[in-house]
Amino acid sequence: MSSTSQCRVCGGTVNEFFDFGRQPLSDAFLEPDADLDGEFFFRLATGLCADCTMVQLMEEVPRDRMFHEAYPYHSSGSAYMRSHFEGLAKRLLTTELTGDDPFVVEAGCNDGVMLRTLAESGVRHLGVEPSGGVADVAAAKGIRVRKSFFEESTAREIRAADGPADVIYAANTLCHIPYIGSILTGVRALLAPTGVFVFEDPYLGDIVERASFDQIYDEHFFFFTARSVQEMAQRHDLELVDVERLPVHGGEVRYTLAIAGARTPTPAVADLLAEERARGLADRATLDGFGERVLRIRDDLTALLRRLRAEGKRVVGYGATAKSATVTNFCGIGPDLVSTVVDTTRAKQNRLTPGAHIPVVDAAAFADPYPDYALLFAWNHADEIQAKEQGFRAAGGRWIRYVPEVRID
Ligand SMILES: [Zn+2]
Repeated sequence: MSSTSQCRVCGGTVNEFFDFGRQPLSDAFLEPDADLDGEFFFRLATGLCADCTMVQLMEEVPRDRMFHEAYPYHSSGSAYMRSHFEGLAKRLLTTELTGDDPFVVEAGCNDGVMLRTLAESGVRHLGVEPSGGVADVAAAKGIRVRKSFFEESTAREIRAADGPADVIYAANTLCHIPYIGSILTGVRALLAPTGVFVFEDPYLGDIVERASFDQIYDEHFFFFTARSVQEMAQRHDLELVDVERLPVHGGEVRYTLAIAGARTPTPAVADLLAEERARGLADRATLDGFGERVLRIRDDLTALLRRLRAEGKRVVGYGATAKSATVTNFCGIGPDLVSTVVDTTRAKQNRLTPGAHIPVVDAAAFADPYPDYALLFAWNHADEIQAKEQGFRAAGGRWIRYVPEVRID
């Protein structure tokens, strides 16, 4: 593993530390009769920038292949996530949006789950969303939506048309974007002098702690830390002024940036930076240790699934998540080990999972009859799912988890 690439943040040298091998697009579900020879694959590998410490993918997938008309992920799909975004919107109303005629821009507004609360409160807003299907859902909720990617030119056009933004927000969007420098230049241009750019994304500290390697897939290009975000912000006349750890999507951090010098950083910033230093999050040895744990999980999980197959047990996957593409393809889990994957998303049903080609069926089929074991791909929603599927345990079914280690619940 001596591969290097050029850092998308600072231009420095990125040294590869883990190779997941050949991977499909995580949302490229196939028709059962599709021509499997035409399936798109790329090499999924992660590296650490020797200069700015940003962890990033070694290879980029063209964005139009990922965020298109039929992009299947809807942020409103989970009650827990709906409440998460409503909570943030209500907080912004009392902390940031108290001035005269405030203006909020959300980059990657998805189906409008966060902006809806602000729109209903009469706040001037604009959602920017490149995936047409979810953008239409947002517009149907009464949200003002612009169907495009958010980049520097977009930000300048918005500023010219609507004036400066008091809040720019992005959830699970910024880490998707390799051309991140253009985003931050745009943010700097669009922000009001005392405005904030708030974004939340999976946190490298949680990924390393939980060995949650399935957070690494085509759409997640960057894996942020407070340190790498701080260094990135400084390159664009911005400053990291607050951080907040979030218990969503397997562990995220909400970062708040302001124009450099405009606000005093909260103590939480220094605390998280110190914690990251103590944990060695920017050290190659720490990331190599993560890689060793990932290999152990792969070996343990495939050994368990082969044993269950030998015992004649039926195992299904629960949640045809984007994350599951990395698990199935990296571990070599196909329909011989996991017969089907259940999922509530209609667009995924009656299709095959990308790369591994496991049939996806309606979640209603889960209980008809219950399998012996369910491999919990949607582990970030474990509490919500296990509460909903109490009948499975009552019928003797067992959950298989694989992070931070393989275990049967
Ligand atoms: Zn760098």
